[in-house]
Amino acid sequence: MRKEIDMKENCSEDLENCFDWGKEIFKESYPPDFNEGLKEEIKQRDGYECQNCGATERLDIHHIDYNKGNLSPWNLITLCKSCNMKANHNKTYWKKFYQGIIKEIYSVG
Ligand SMILES: [Zn+2]
Repeated sequence: MRKEIDMKENCSEDLENCFDWGKEIFKESYPPDFNEGLKEEIKQRDGYECQNCGATERLDIHHIDYNKGNLSPWNLITLCKSCNMKANHNKTYWKKFYQGIIKEIYSVG
């Protein structure tokens, strides 16, 4: 809260400063533990396939609950870039959809 007030004050004085502040927050939205090693583990678990369409290229890790700080393997799933983009709309739908897939992964494996 305190920071938000500070930002507004800075913004009115210096727009550039305000912009930098925003970038800093954005950078921090991915915790340092969300690294290549963890991504690799998730991809391996998912057989290097998009868990929606089966694509094997342009793979990314999606946060099922849209919380970038939640690094539980239950919250991470391998998706290709295009399925990942689709998940930015109808979030409630996709969240349920991918949670269902994760449950299957862990009940079988
Ligand atoms: Zn896909």
